[in-house]
Amino acid sequence: MLMQSAKPLGELENPSEFLARHIGIDGQDEVHMLGVIGSTSRRELVDGIVPRSIARKSAMAIPSPVTEAAALRQLKAIASKNKVFKSFIGQGYYGTYTPGVILRNILENPAWYTAYTPYQAEISQGRMEALINFQTMVCDLTGMPIANASMLDEATAAAEAMTLARRSVKSKSNVFIVAGDCHPQTIEVIQTRARPLGIEVKVSTAAVTVPQLMAQGNYFGVLAQYPATTGSIHDLRPLAGQAHIDGAALCVAADLLALTLLTPPGEWDADIVLGNTQRFGMPMGNGGPHAAYLACRDEFKRSLPGRLVGVSVDVHGNPTYRLALQTREQHIRREKATSNICTAQVLPAVIASMYAVYHGPQGLKRIAERVATYTAIFVRGLQELGYEITNAGAFDSVTVKTGDATDLIAGRARSAGANLRFRLKNHLGVSLDETTSRSDIELLWSFFAADGQTLPVVSAFERGVESLIPADLRRSSPFLSHPVFNTHHSETGMLRYIRMLSDKDLALDRSMIPLGSCTMKLNATSEMIPITWPEFANIHPFAPADQLRGYAELDQQLRDWLCQATGYAGISLQPNAGSQGEYAGLLIIKAFHEAQGQGHRNICLIPSSAHGTNPASAQMVGMTVVVTACDAQGNVDMADLKAKCEQHSEKLACVMITYPSTHGVFETHVKELCQMVHAHGGRVYVDGANMNALVGVAAPGEFGGDVSHLNLHKTFCIPHGGGGPGVGPVCVVADLVPYLPGHATAGLPVNGVGAISAAPLGNAAVLPISWMYCRMMGPEGLQQATEVAILSANYISARLKDHYPTLYASENGHVAHECILDLRPLKETSGVTAEDVAKRLIDYGFHAPTLSFPVAGTLMVEPTESETLDELDRFIDAMIAIRQEIRRIEQGEWPQDDNPLKAAPHTAASLLKGEWKHAYTRDVGAAILSTTQHAKYWPPVGRVDNVYGDRNLFCSCVPMSDYA
Ligand SMILES: *Cc1c(COP(=O)(O)O)cnc(C)c1O
Repeated sequence: MLMQSAKPLGELENPSEFLARHIGIDGQDEVHMLGVIGSTSRRELVDGIVPRSIARKSAMAIPSPVTEAAALRQLKAIASKNKVFKSFIGQGYYGTYTPGVILRNILENPAWYTAYTPYQAEISQGRMEALINFQTMVCDLTGMPIANASMLDEATAAAEAMTLARRSVKSKSNVFIVAGDCHPQTIEVIQTRARPLGIEVKVSTAAVTVPQLMAQGNYFGVLAQYPATTGSIHDLRPLAGQAHIDGAALCVAADLLALTLLTPPGEWDADIVLGNTQRFGMPMGNGGPHAAYLACRDEFKRSLPGRLVGVSVDVHGNPTYRLALQTREQHIRREKATSNICTAQVLPAVIASMYAVYHGPQGLKRIAERVATYTAIFVRGLQELGYEITNAGAFDSVTVKTGDATDLIAGRARSAGANLRFRLKNHLGVSLDETTSRSDIELLWSFFAADGQTLPVVSAFERGVESLIPADLRRSSPFLSHPVFNTHHSETGMLRYIRMLSDKDLALDRSMIPLGSCTMKLNATSEMIPITWPEFANIHPFAPADQLRGYAELDQQLRDWLCQATGYAGISLQPNAGSQGEYAGLLIIKAFHEAQGQGHRNICLIPSSAHGTNPASAQMVGMTVVVTACDAQGNVDMADLKAKCEQHSEKLACVMITYPSTHGVFETHVKELCQMVHAHGGRVYVDGANMNALVGVAAPGEFGGDVSHLNLHKTFCIPHGGGGPGVGPVCVVADLVPYLPGHATAGLPVNGVGAISAAPLGNAAVLPISWMYCRMMGPEGLQQATEVAILSANYISARLKDHYPTLYASENGHVAHECILDLRPLKETSGVTAEDVAKRLIDYGFHAPTLSFPVAGTLMVEPTESETLDELDRFIDAMIAIRQEIRRIEQGEWPQDDNPLKAAPHTAASLLKGEWKHAYTRDVGAAILSTTQHAKYWPPVGRVDNVYGDRNLFCSCVPMSDYA
């Protein structure tokens, strides 16, 4: 035997183990790919693509990588600095049990969490069924005819309700009345949102004084909460009638669990109903992610913001789901869009809907009745102990007058590991929930009892106690009567239902999702594991700071690393989607100008190629959007930009660019562009959605950007979840740091920009994912990821150039991390559209690239660094096979209206059942390649008819037989 020479320990310990897992290609693959592109090395390739003028000057100061196991250990140590207390705080966040079958098979299941937003209807039927269940659940519980799926949190949903009301009512007033006993974070976010729109928010001292404010007339909407933050259940019925007489709308923030027992707002003519679904199975997670909901009256539906799943039919006449009207409305309506919402909590919405499916109406009602009964028992005991309850009626929350004993009682609770809520002066709030047990009630009493006082016992109330819900507000109408909520109550049944739905869909766990601008990269399992640790999951966002030290450390470290990655001086992780980061960033710019005495600066220049959220966000902060042109190469037209800067110099607030551009190119003029905008007194917003082409290579904060948002669900590995959750940190240069969003409700200072999310750390519970990613990759690994993403995009562009030309490239013919394939000429020669190719890819087992954005008639491909060379080739081969099919049409072999592209995607049934009448064979239709024959994806439905669906808008569950 030959003696092996000893290997250095560092090599054996392999701290960059994860890098080779995250990046799909190895050294040998790289050599091959560079050969195809015609480059000698990755360095040469990247240096020829990223303009030298903006290249990073120094490496990122991020700790060097550790293994998966070590990163998990380190994060566990941070997590353990959080203290998991029993929460009785309420205020919109409650204890809940995530049913095990939902936890493991949805929240922890990549078939659900790695899916993309369901824009491609045919491969998204499973998650859209879950979302339509969500909409139906909300409609039934609120009594409203239409609900979306979903909103970012309750507070932003309330703000969206305010603007929806303003768009929809007769009143021309700018006054919005808010009941003072709404959750304080809701009021705070409404105030943030109202200010730039010139809406005056009048907050009543309590719900009972709302009618007095209404009596003054002159308002366009009212918001009240049901039950209120105090626990009171007000009779809001008279408000609706009065609001309608005054030409205004009544918005109601309502708790879905309470609505199983309370007369729903839809039955007393409320116009808009909103709230959170957190307590339907999503852990508190220090404030998020959770799905909020928004429901409205039928007349308002065409201006309802957010995502709406509707029912349509496919080519075979079968009912299918698809996103209705509002789909991508920002891309169509841009600065006239109703809202900037894009990514929005799909996974939490799926979980909430499944919670309702699993428990069914009886199960939900039993939980609610248990909570209400425990509340009533708790109150009886408190009364025995001599306390006065100040609320009128109660479901799960009470406010107790505690006088001088307030601190003593709260302190006792604290020492027993429980949090009560401080209310006003000399009051404590207590909220119960699904997890409350008999011993919790007895524990609570023990906090309130004076020394030596006899404690009540729950078993004394064995026969039950009448709830404190006012008799005339008790619900009598049924809900969730659709079979889906009354079928899957056994665990076997539920498991199979979940599996059946996920089997219909394509997610990253099956094949590459080459979506340009959306960066569908690996969401590593080790990154996902910590999010359900109790130390992260079971934390109330308004718990005392000394219980949140772990989160504080996570926040601090992640912000430091992201500052390194972007070159910015300060970051806030509060925005819970990229769109919210944009919104916060523009508010920061506005606040800055105001502080300089330049509050009149309100022009926002946006190139025509921008993502639709950019103009939509600008509109929300009251800026005027001026569109600037792109030149023939797809770059910002510098002459036009210069002219517009000069024309609007006095009033220029900012320019919003995306870098590298949405055209997939590193523009060489970006530095001059920034200087020019600065010279006119404007600030530069750099949309950071394309940071996957920049990390470690160039930093917007260094090359002239003043503000950016990141999409942690793109560049930093948080899964898309089928359309959310996301995290959209807002990043700023030094002089803008003071204006980062604050959060008065959480006790964080506010300088200019108040809370923009309900919770101070937004979707806090998914931050561990990005932390793990950075920790395991280290600075060089992160840079390598960027470079391989660029390499892979150029490889695809090069291999496809004879089949589908890339529309825009830099002078040397290269692209950034994505490429736009130009399919427009095919229309002329074959009648084939980009959509046909997108649908035909489904037959080959792939999710389509981004369709018709930013250029109509094109496909934008972004492979990311995580795909293997095999998978890249499989995708390329499928694209080439499709091009050969197009050639057969071009050559007249198949008619333009009867060929495998026009009929795509092909369901198994359409290929196997009945007589075959097409011009091509069944075999061709099936598109089985040697590489896919063992794992062929069969779409559950054929091509969806969108026009039919928009004409016949139908957005809740109906027995499928109704369509037959
Ligand atoms: C994804 C994206 C956004 C919006 O981000 P969300 O997280 O979906 O709100 C904005 N701009 C660009 C260029 C994007 O690709």
